[in-house]
Amino acid sequence: MAETFPELKPAARILLGPGPCNVNPRVMKAMQSPVVGHLDPEFIKVMEDIKRMLRAVFRTSNEITFPVSGTGSAGMDAILANLIEDGDEVIVGVNGVFGTRIADSAERLGAKVIKVEAEWGRIIEPAQIEAALKGTHQPKLVAIVHAETSTGAHQSVEEISELAHRAGALMMLDTVTSLACVPVEIDKWKIDASYSCTQKGLSAPPGLAPTTFSTRAIETIRSRKTRCKSWYLDVGMIARYWGSDRVYHHTAPITMNYALYEALRVVLEEGLEARWARHRANAAALHAGLGAMGLKLAAQEGYRLPQLTTVEVPEGIDEAKVRAELLNGFDIEIAAGLGPLKGKVWRVGLIGESSQRSNVFLLLAALEQILAAMGYEFARGRALPSAEQSYVAA
Ligand SMILES: *Cc1c(COP(=O)(O)O)cnc(C)c1O
Repeated sequence: MAETFPELKPAARILLGPGPCNVNPRVMKAMQSPVVGHLDPEFIKVMEDIKRMLRAVFRTSNEITFPVSGTGSAGMDAILANLIEDGDEVIVGVNGVFGTRIADSAERLGAKVIKVEAEWGRIIEPAQIEAALKGTHQPKLVAIVHAETSTGAHQSVEEISELAHRAGALMMLDTVTSLACVPVEIDKWKIDASYSCTQKGLSAPPGLAPTTFSTRAIETIRSRKTRCKSWYLDVGMIARYWGSDRVYHHTAPITMNYALYEALRVVLEEGLEARWARHRANAAALHAGLGAMGLKLAAQEGYRLPQLTTVEVPEGIDEAKVRAELLNGFDIEIAAGLGPLKGKVWRVGLIGESSQRSNVFLLLAALEQILAAMGYEFARGRALPSAEQSYVAA
């Protein structure tokens, strides 16, 4: 007998990890729209509107602003592959998984990478970048991560961007977990290139990487001595499809672009300021509730992301078991620590659509039950009132 395969029936989880986060139902509905050709006038209208909405969300007037086909990491590779030529000096802030990833990618693309490191959970200090720049001859690029999802650290950007430009370098910023969660100001901060993703702050499924390039970055790409090492991610060629020429390069993922279109509409309807305020309020309540349970936050004080909280696992508690019980008993996903934080922290995301007051209370209530049953000693019944108090005080 021929093997049969069951119909897909994934559980509807509450996604409180580092992404993907929950998808707005309007986005899922948009994805059911008919697939049209990638050069259909109706799709071209969608592309034009996506570019305009992306500029609004990135707070930029950059002409070259479009979604790279692929997840956030494809956006990273697209920027690095187009800006870097063999032997270029690239300074990378490394204080977590995603800075490590940038350094790895830049090295593979032939850059001479200078890593500026900080302990995981802490930010990169501008003085460290300044010192690294002094040791270079002709720095091409300074790259940092705005929201380090592996640690919960919220990097300050403006001063580092200023230092990079003063040294003649371009500035790249990873906004994968920051866009539409906390302020991202591409033009004001003079960021030359940035990449994000669809499945975090924008709350669509994973699949596209919104990117933006300053005029200086585009001039740098145009004056390359060698061709971009990636055919698929060659921005010069892709820009001819996303620009007025409409020259076929690769087939745009039509349905994912519908998703991005609707996700951007949702974000702009809420308004960026309101969205940032929502993330702050829900994080403050979560932090108050966790604090009332005696749990400690792992990221550097004063630089904690509202959308991603790293929580220290208390002594004697099996961190994986807590996550399994949240998933099996409450349909809540949170994530484990990575690298040096593995086994030491949980990562709790309140990202985009998942940043809801109801999720804060549900998670705190579930954690109280699970931790009490595991013998963790704390004053029970205080977490929810503390969270409530935080909302009242705000
Ligand atoms: C998620 C993430 C990435 C990678 O994005 P993918 O969509 O998983 O490829 C890069 N940087 C940061 C800060 C992230 O959180």
